[in-house]
Amino acid sequence: MQRTSLVTLSLGILATGTSRAETLTADADFPGGNIIVERIEEEDIHVRQDLRDTAGYWFYWCFRVRGGAGRRITVHFADGGVIGVRGPAMSMDGGLTWTWLGADAVQGKGFSHQIPAGQNDVRFSFGMPYTQTNLGSFLRRHTGNPHLQAGTLCQTRAGRDVELLHLGQLAGTPDHRVLLSCRHHCCEMMASYALEGIMDTILSDNEDGAWLREHVAFLVVPFADKDGVEQGDQGKNRKPRDHNRDYDGESVYAATAALRKLVPEWGGDRLHFAMDMHCPHIRGSSNEVVYFVGMADPALWANTQAFSTILEATNTGLLPYRKQDNLPYGQGWNVAKNYGAGMSCSRWAGTLPGIRFAASLEIPYANAGGVAVTQESAHAFGRALAHAIRRFLNESPPTSEP
Ligand SMILES: [Zn+2]
Repeated sequence: MQRTSLVTLSLGILATGTSRAETLTADADFPGGNIIVERIEEEDIHVRQDLRDTAGYWFYWCFRVRGGAGRRITVHFADGGVIGVRGPAMSMDGGLTWTWLGADAVQGKGFSHQIPAGQNDVRFSFGMPYTQTNLGSFLRRHTGNPHLQAGTLCQTRAGRDVELLHLGQLAGTPDHRVLLSCRHHCCEMMASYALEGIMDTILSDNEDGAWLREHVAFLVVPFADKDGVEQGDQGKNRKPRDHNRDYDGESVYAATAALRKLVPEWGGDRLHFAMDMHCPHIRGSSNEVVYFVGMADPALWANTQAFSTILEATNTGLLPYRKQDNLPYGQGWNVAKNYGAGMSCSRWAGTLPGIRFAASLEIPYANAGGVAVTQESAHAFGRALAHAIRRFLNESPPTSEP
């Protein structure tokens, strides 16, 4: 067997295998990239996900294969449990669009795929990465819209801007204020497509958009862990502190500290709704449905259920949603001992004055009630969420003038 050479770069990791006509390479040197390439032998690529500062195991990875056109590659992961229920996702246009390869592509701890002729730059990932590039496309699509203001919450430790978006009713005092956040766990990318679906609805020329722009001011943090999103980190169970446990005591991260200061000032007595968007674990019945994570506070839980009733009844999105799939506080992983390390964003939001709805939403990576979670279906579910937010707020009592 032909020996391989291994080259390690400081940013991303590149391994080069010498083989037949083309040189087959695998690397993660692009935004959202994550892989450790151990060796390449012929068409066999041996890799492992890069855990970095994760406490314990997690499953995110994303890498690029070059020189594979017309060849069947087999990717071997050193550790198991890193491929979702619809197999890996693949992009042949530099990460713009993605498709699931399907469970049939899975082989042992890895997968095998015949790369089409002419495709010398193919990306594979656990999911369908959504990074600053995607958000930039969204913002360009709405350039000049008076109901969208893009700003900066703060800078990260690595010097990146954390985007802060204002959408909806920006001119006067709105009836309602809504906080939407995403990527406290940076690898949970499918939630971002749903968030974009909500934002597109707010700005769209339909009844939901018109109502939301008249009555609601939205504050949106698309990437709570911006460094993690761009660096392709796992983010879940990050040491020394998970971003979604950074809402009590002294915050470790600038974004969390800035949000804790800004939101109460901005929200006043009008912050009525706060939703923090996530993806669950890989597989199993409770990880293959969309669900809300119930709060301990009975009033917040009652309103989560009320919102869920509306969402289930009006959901015209592509992903199924059933209220009965919500996870009440005290059940499953949603128990006190799992919150010992610090307060989550939605629990913190639930303590703010005037709040009516505060919850985390879990959107599966690949399978939601038998339907494929894709860029399109997650975006469509976001539009259904926007409609339900409108209905929920419209049915809520107005805030009395002080
Ligand atoms: Zn999460």
